[in-house]
Amino acid sequence: MSSQTANSTSHHDSMFDSVLARLDVAAKTMNLDETSAKVLRSPQKLVQVSLPVMMDNGKVEVFEGFRCVHSTVLGPSKGGIRYAMDVCQDEVMALSAWMSFKCAVANLPYGGGKGGIKCDPRKLSVGELERLTRAYTRSMKDVFGVNKDIPAPDMGTSGREMAWLVDEYNKITGDDSPGVTTGKPVGIGGSLGRDAATGRGVMVSTLCALKKMSLDPKSVSASVQGFGNVGSHAARLLSEKGIKIVAIGDHTASYYNENGIDIKAALDYAKSNSNTLKGFTGAVEITGTQLLTTKCDVLVPAALQNVITEEIASDIQAKLIVEGANGPTTPEADSILKEKNILVVPDILANSGGVTVSYFEWVQNKMGYYWSEKEVNEKHDINMEVAFDAVWKNSQEYKSTMRIGAYITALKKIEFGIKAKGNF
Ligand code: NAD
Repeated sequence: MSSQTANSTSHHDSMFDSVLARLDVAAKTMNLDETSAKVLRSPQKLVQVSLPVMMDNGKVEVFEGFRCVHSTVLGPSKGGIRYAMDVCQDEVMALSAWMSFKCAVANLPYGGGKGGIKCDPRKLSVGELERLTRAYTRSMKDVFGVNKDIPAPDMGTSGREMAWLVDEYNKITGDDSPGVTTGKPVGIGGSLGRDAATGRGVMVSTLCALKKMSLDPKSVSASVQGFGNVGSHAARLLSEKGIKIVAIGDHTASYYNENGIDIKAALDYAKSNSNTLKGFTGAVEITGTQLLTTKCDVLVPAALQNVITEEIASDIQAKLIVEGANGPTTPEADSILKEKNILVVPDILANSGGVTVSYFEWVQNKMGYYWSEKEVNEKHDINMEVAFDAVWKNSQEYKSTMRIGAYITALKKIEFGIKAKGNF
């Protein structure tokens, strides 16, 4: 196992560099103190491990695993574990910093972390995935901890992997610590409401933004890109609030209906069609680009990063963008959206519903007492409204976009923590 500092990565167009670029803009706008800026530019801990795993064919493959703890100033680090081929040091560093800011914006007593294994989970059998997850957990036993570093699912992982992780961790410690990870299945320490939480947060932040814009949800229309966990719940919950969903789409197809798509029918269809939309008959097929630029009031990108480019931004007709996905808008597109006066509710606010309910899961695990779904949802909605208002207030005070307002909101809290905890 090797452990090294962030300074060992120095390529220029790295993801971590682009996090630092946005951090610098916010730091300058709010006059962040120099010590805090320096501390936040270097993740606290970066661990890389090699994971020999016995494959089904009897041969051993060696995988690379990573975990980065960006900050624990406001509490134990929190962040998902990703299984994908592009997982690397730079990516976990960037995503862990993002988590520090997201948790601070959402008022959670957490710092930021992120981890992953470089692998293609679709090419591994269930048994191989289980052995890989257990090997990763053993290697990270000194990094993880209920009050230290708490993982969760991310791209390529789900409740299944978290169940293996918690089991392996408990075998190592001999203790029962369900709170060592979140996103577990309900029944073994998972929280009700966790599944829909990110989509729910998108819905609540959309309603908050519409209120600021003096728009009645019952008279607005929306287009939602992505029909997975975030997009499908967001589309369903937005339509339940009276918003007309005119376009939906996933990686297989996109659909438009100016009278509004029957989201329940689309959900039923996707369920019967391997969770994809191709072949849905309640609307006409359009292209993915048309979905983003169609005439509507609200655009919810809830699929991938970097989909709203300069070109797309110039053609967007929506008045409001609510970022369900992480990093859907490029920095260049940001300036165009600002010029066009389109309000953007940034990812670190809009999709923080997931980590908020992860926090509730951890609290319930610590108490050993479990809340009803209604209780989880009520607590979530209040938390999201408070976070939205804080970001709104800072963006007004600093005459900035909501994105920079969100970074300022986070940086103020982390700066306070760094100063309050005292000398180095
Ligand atoms: P998911 O895998 O459940 O769904 C992804 C969806 O995007 C699928 O419908 C897929 O078909 C669609 N998609 C993929 N490529 C596409 C393309 N080229 N064009 C249109 N659609 C495409 O993933 P998810 O959990 O819903 O995550 C979506 C985004 O939200 C990611 O950026 C993720 O990081 C972010 N996010 C997720 C959570 C969470 O709790 N799940 C929390 C915070 C942020």
